[in-house]
Amino acid sequence: MTGIARGGFEGLDACVHCGFCLQACPTFLATGDESDSPRGRIELMRGLERGDIAATDPALISHLDRCLGCRGCEPVCPSGVQYGHGLEAARSRIAGSRPVPGVARLALWALTTPGISSVVYWFARVLRATGLPRLLAGWGRFGFAMGMLAATRAAQGGGGRRKAAKARQVAPAAIRRPSPPLATLLFRGCVMQGLFSHVHDATIRTLGVNGYQVRDVSGQVCCGALHAHAGLLDEARALARVNVDAFGDGDEPIVVNSAGCGALMKEYGRLLDDLRGERFGARVRDVTELLAGSAMKGPVAGEPLDLHVAYDPPCHLLHAQGIAVQPLKLFAAIPLLELVPVPGAAECCGSAGLFTLLEPEMSRAVLQTKIDRLREAAPQVVATGNPGCLMQIGAGLAAAGSAARARHPVELLDDAYRAAGRYE
Ligand code: SF4
Ligand code: SF4
Repeated sequence: MTGIARGGFEGLDACVHCGFCLQACPTFLATGDESDSPRGRIELMRGLERGDIAATDPALISHLDRCLGCRGCEPVCPSGVQYGHGLEAARSRIAGSRPVPGVARLALWALTTPGISSVVYWFARVLRATGLPRLLAGWGRFGFAMGMLAATRAAQGGGGRRKAAKARQVAPAAIRRPSPPLATLLFRGCVMQGLFSHVHDATIRTLGVNGYQVRDVSGQVCCGALHAHAGLLDEARALARVNVDAFGDGDEPIVVNSAGCGALMKEYGRLLDDLRGERFGARVRDVTELLAGSAMKGPVAGEPLDLHVAYDPPCHLLHAQGIAVQPLKLFAAIPLLELVPVPGAAECCGSAGLFTLLEPEMSRAVLQTKIDRLREAAPQVVATGNPGCLMQIGAGLAAAGSAARARHPVELLDDAYRAAGRYE
């Protein structure tokens, strides 16, 4: 178990002010203000812990609110500062001394409350089906919200031109079907279940081809990541406990296809400060981890797809979970698919949970840089494994008039398997 006596502030102790992290911070790059950099924020958070700065201090709140929580500063830090843990502790202290902004409360209530969220998602799906959100997409608040909704729509008719060439089928011997299949439990989440159920379907099918039998678990709830990012740690803990009970004490891996959810669920041990949470966290796997396999041989190959893809690694996959190679194994299993290099692909897209809603100016400023680079690279698909990133990048592409679509990596593998006749 990890002690949380200082609530996460201890993760900041190693900072030596070297400044190596500054150029990795999207908000520092956007404003050039030291207080919008990791080093500046660490000083503010240390002052908060010492009691030199009040939790109600407007400058402290403003600069911490403007942090994406992307943790892009962690892998470049030579001292191993655990910035994300410190930020969580600081936000929790701030949340205890001021009301959480009404718009954040409303969004959490609408998106994550069982019963309420199912109605909200139903209306959203009906609106999405009309095709209007795509037509109304733009850079303004309303247009961007429409673009985000449009980006949740499943691609019609697959994602790339099939090559009806000789490489049509992988030899049956190459299909990995252990007997009996390996059992794994699917985490459905709230936004993923409400707006991206087609990604769940693709997850189940692609894992099936690779020897996994995916089972559903009743009684599961939102992972609590949005609450934790807003500083509502007690609410995040309450949700985590429900999930720990729902998934039980078995050994089956828990498969997650949302990087933000997976990052927090792997840390349930630290969040709950108990052994059950730690055991739960040890079972959590991103879908690309399972598909890549423990020997990293990658998934079974699919039909060739003649497709130019830009991979945009979600911060909570790359920085928080340290998963870099596994998604690439998945793309490598699709012959002809060409990965298009994009400068700064590993930088945050500006989504960051509710950040896009609460800090729209900073969020769009960060996104604009990414969209400009993507337009230059001109991929047909931007692949990313997190619902927030899919919606943020998808909305940005639509607002910029790009025909490229944002899609989850497993959707592409699913297309390749369908084209190869794996599901017949
Ligand atoms: S967080 Fe790490 S990289 Fe940034 S100033 Fe501190 S020690 Fe240096
Ligand atoms: S979490 Fe992201 S936005 Fe916040 S300080 Fe670190 S790099 Fe900058």
